[in-house]
Amino acid sequence: MSSSPTGALVLFSGGQDSSVCLAWALARHDRVETVGFDYGQRHAVELSQRGAVRAAMAKAFPEWAARLGDDHMLDIRSFGAIGETAMTTERAIEVAENGLPSTFVPGRNLVFLTYAAALADRRGLKSLVGGMCETDFSGYPDCRRDTLDALQAALGLGMGRDYPIETPLMWLTKAETWSLAKGLGGEALVELIVEHSHTCYLGDRKHRHAWGYGCGACPACELRAKGWDAWVADGRPEIAP
Ligand code: ZN
Repeated sequence: MSSSPTGALVLFSGGQDSSVCLAWALARHDRVETVGFDYGQRHAVELSQRGAVRAAMAKAFPEWAARLGDDHMLDIRSFGAIGETAMTTERAIEVAENGLPSTFVPGRNLVFLTYAAALADRRGLKSLVGGMCETDFSGYPDCRRDTLDALQAALGLGMGRDYPIETPLMWLTKAETWSLAKGLGGEALVELIVEHSHTCYLGDRKHRHAWGYGCGACPACELRAKGWDAWVADGRPEIAP
């Protein structure tokens, strides 16, 4: 099955960024599957929105529905237990002395991508797609393209074939991520992502803002609101994918 793999496996959390990545992959690859990771997040809301985003995308874009394959959920709670950060315990979200937000689970993307590569091998999928981004850098060293290039090399050496790690958001601002969404699927895709994707660290889906659901005050909401406002102020432009 893995002798001549095609298609892509999207690291898909149900958040804004990975939802745009899913659309990007569906526009580009003939076969797309998704993978999510349960590492014991304090709030499971983001993961529960995964199905909603997938279903809404398949309904709104029939040509993508034909390409959208299985969804996989991998339990890596033992990794989450090591993290012991604000995402997995009730500790407040704050910026630690090392400059990293307390939501940071060290090496999280290294683990996600290694699991994803093993799954992609089993599923006969060629590339891995992730929403990692350096531009709105939150201090996550495993989001940097240098890190991913090194991991890509390690995966190729250690697993005997290349696993290209595609990161369509790497050099985009949060405002430009909305531009890319519009370029991929017009305002219909933007609206779908606003309505169904989730980003809030506190798991709030009670408060609906122009940019989507969230508490409006946590770092994830602030980042999303700021990006949305900048995109709207700029006249809701689009970027061709
Ligand atoms: Zn929030």
